[in-house]
Amino acid sequence: MWKDLLPIGRDARSGGYRRFAWTGADADCRAWFRTQAEARGLEYEVDRNGNQWAWLGDPKAGDAVVTGSHLDSVPDGGAFDGPLGVVSSFAAVDELRARGAGPSRPLAIVNFGDEEGARFGLACVGSRLAAGQLTADRAAELRDADGISLPQAMERAGYDPEAIGPDPERLARIGAFVELHVEQGRALDLSGDPVGVASAIWPHGRWRFDFHGEANHAGTTRLEDRRDPMLTYANTVLAARKKARLAGALATFGKVAVEPNGVNAIPSLVRGWLDSRAADEQTLAAVVEEIERAATERGGRDGVEVRVTRESFTPVVEFEHALRDTAAGLLSAEGRAIPVLPTGAGHDAGILSASVPTAMLFVRNPTGVSHSPAEHAAEDDCLAGVLALADVLEGLACR
Ligand SMILES: [Zn+2]
Repeated sequence: MWKDLLPIGRDARSGGYRRFAWTGADADCRAWFRTQAEARGLEYEVDRNGNQWAWLGDPKAGDAVVTGSHLDSVPDGGAFDGPLGVVSSFAAVDELRARGAGPSRPLAIVNFGDEEGARFGLACVGSRLAAGQLTADRAAELRDADGISLPQAMERAGYDPEAIGPDPERLARIGAFVELHVEQGRALDLSGDPVGVASAIWPHGRWRFDFHGEANHAGTTRLEDRRDPMLTYANTVLAARKKARLAGALATFGKVAVEPNGVNAIPSLVRGWLDSRAADEQTLAAVVEEIERAATERGGRDGVEVRVTRESFTPVVEFEHALRDTAAGLLSAEGRAIPVLPTGAGHDAGILSASVPTAMLFVRNPTGVSHSPAEHAAEDDCLAGVLALADVLEGLACR
């Protein structure tokens, strides 16, 4: 499966993946999914929000066990974030068949659309729409860097944007959702385990900071006469790092847009996007508030107006204990309990957990590097992940 999937959307220069929602690379990934489903005789369908499904058993029977992940990527992402979950799902179905394990509940593999939010700035669009956590109206307002709206992009990719919306009937058919994912951190490397079970996802969000200054000539404007938003932005980046460190949280400015973006011009506007995460919502709110205060304070000294807009927020996700414990029980050997660990990364499983019992498996990432071409998982660990997923699916669906 990897042989066909790996070349899709790979940038020759960076070696990273650029599989953005509803682009050609995304279409190629989707075609790959369909091919894999049909090669196994699974019933293939696309839901109203463009998520792909492959069914073993009757999709309408209810109480289904669903596994899967996503195939899109961040800009210059790695090969494993998302695809490892989808590839492992198909491989786990193969494993169940090789074991002669016949499911007594319907089993499905899903590819959720636009998980990373690389193109329209909002993560987990496919699962959010299905779960009713993103309305069709709000989705219609999402635009990419070229001003193309989400519905336009979907239409150009051959999907019906009129159909976008909540899908409660579909979610009601799911009895359990299990997502396997490459670990985005080093906890398993440090504990020496190839596979772990997720306990929770940290609350996280994205905030847009607009720093409004005054454009002027870089060669003729005295320093004391400037209203330079870049200065305020730079100080805010440093403040974010410090506030996060002091609170044991995470804060990152990873995206910035500058107007007019000229080498010899003091900018009129700097727009920076803050991604922040913490173990609990109180800490997260406090950190973002402190960063905002630092920005405003500094802006006052620089003659720069600061406006902060919360673009997205995902509350803490505590995975359902019963399913989590069942998965952990199925994967723990005598004398060696499988590690159960929290993560700072958001996932479709986190979105779905508000509607259906959800669990996650993580596969060891030896460097912890993710969202980068250097993201890696060893083949043995990937195979251990497939067997673990097959064990969980068998335990849930075949008994
Ligand atoms: Zn992912």
